[in-house]
Amino acid sequence: MPSESELEALRKEVKDITNEIIRLIAHRLSLTKKINEIKFSLGLPTIDYKVERDLRKSVINTCKKYDVDEQFGLRILNLLIEEAVRAHKSTISKKAIGVIDMFVLAKRMEEDGKKVIHLEVGEPDFGPPYKVKRATYDAISKNHTHYTEPSGILSLRESIANYLNKRYGIDLSSEQVAVTSGGRFSIYASILSTLSQGGEAIVIQPAWPAYVDCIEMIGGRTINIKTDLEEGWRPDIELISNLINDSTKLIVINYPNNPTGKVLEKRDIKALVDLAIDRNITILSDEVYSDYSFKPFNSILEFHECKSICVSSFSKSYGMTGFRIGYAISDVETIRKVSKIQALVSTSVPEFIQYAAIEALKCKKDVKRYANLIKKRISLVCKELENMGLSYYMPDGAFYVFPQISKNKSFDAEKFALDLLKDKNVCVTPGTIFGDYPNFIRISACQAEDLLLEGLKRMGEMLR
Ligand code: PLP
Repeated sequence: MPSESELEALRKEVKDITNEIIRLIAHRLSLTKKINEIKFSLGLPTIDYKVERDLRKSVINTCKKYDVDEQFGLRILNLLIEEAVRAHKSTISKKAIGVIDMFVLAKRMEEDGKKVIHLEVGEPDFGPPYKVKRATYDAISKNHTHYTEPSGILSLRESIANYLNKRYGIDLSSEQVAVTSGGRFSIYASILSTLSQGGEAIVIQPAWPAYVDCIEMIGGRTINIKTDLEEGWRPDIELISNLINDSTKLIVINYPNNPTGKVLEKRDIKALVDLAIDRNITILSDEVYSDYSFKPFNSILEFHECKSICVSSFSKSYGMTGFRIGYAISDVETIRKVSKIQALVSTSVPEFIQYAAIEALKCKKDVKRYANLIKKRISLVCKELENMGLSYYMPDGAFYVFPQISKNKSFDAEKFALDLLKDKNVCVTPGTIFGDYPNFIRISACQAEDLLLEGLKRMGEMLR
């Protein structure tokens, strides 16, 4: 018969072990700190995926030996690695400037009476089509001013499904659609639905920073796949394959890409899809710029055999950024999870905004007109960059050009962007926001041609 004193003794042992684990974690952190200092002084990268892979193997073996669930062991390992990387980053690097920081700095200058040229924001200077504005007023006057079901009103979900079925020759049902507060919320909810603490997600860089921020916020681990201008920003599929392990749950892709403007070739998407199927991984495809593709675009939705979440938005296609409406498409179960998160956080997208979105889906001509306008502006930006002798990838889509501002990798794009803002009143986004790209900047082609030309002229003066 077990006794109270036996229970007490066991509790004490558990407590001691827990404290011992914390002591060991502190010791581990002090060792990784030393390792990182040595790596830093030798100019080696902080993260070494090969070393991580060996560590992972040894953890799996230890888990087997002591009959501990492998997934649990790997989750703990990822948390330890994340903590070591985070501690290192906070000691060696200044806090990177974020896209919002640049915008806020520019806004402050404007409050002081300066006129700033905004080449940083990914928001087109055109608003929604007239018919969308009209539909918004009409919906409000008809009292469509209520909460709706979290996944969105049925008529909008049906309209989205029909629109995509026609566009890509597929067969979605309204149950596979969740209407969310912007594409951004779909991305957050999708990551939250598929990744748990310590789980891994592959992100192809340069990348819109929200993916990494969302992954880190939920305690996941990002595996960054760097791509290069010299390779036309094409990801190395073999490298991705080598980095996948049992903890990898998600591959995030974004084409047309922010910031490079790349659209991935169909064969490369197919290779990623095959990999995802083979290793049982979900592809999260952010397609918010799909209407701004200047060459044939293949949606992840065309590859039914693969488990995927496709995210899109009304923000960019219809100039509806401030309406805050986007959507996620996936299997019914995943969509239920996404809708549940939406219900928890914001109940639903406002009802009248959803009616405006139904109207937007009919505005095909406006979408074409917007895409042509952005394409023309991008060509103009590229011509100017050409005149400055800068290297860049000619965008296949999206709103941006991502030029290499210096061949020197130790160039400080953040300082360049800050100086350009301070001295020339021109705001651009430093490449560091999108990954390890200190010698790149992103120029957004969302402004009128005269502003683009003037902004680029001033940038050219800075570079001389
Ligand atoms: N995905 C990418 C790549 C973006 O650049 C943006 C916005 O800039 C979004 C998603 C989010 O768009 P929204 O939340 O306005 O739909």
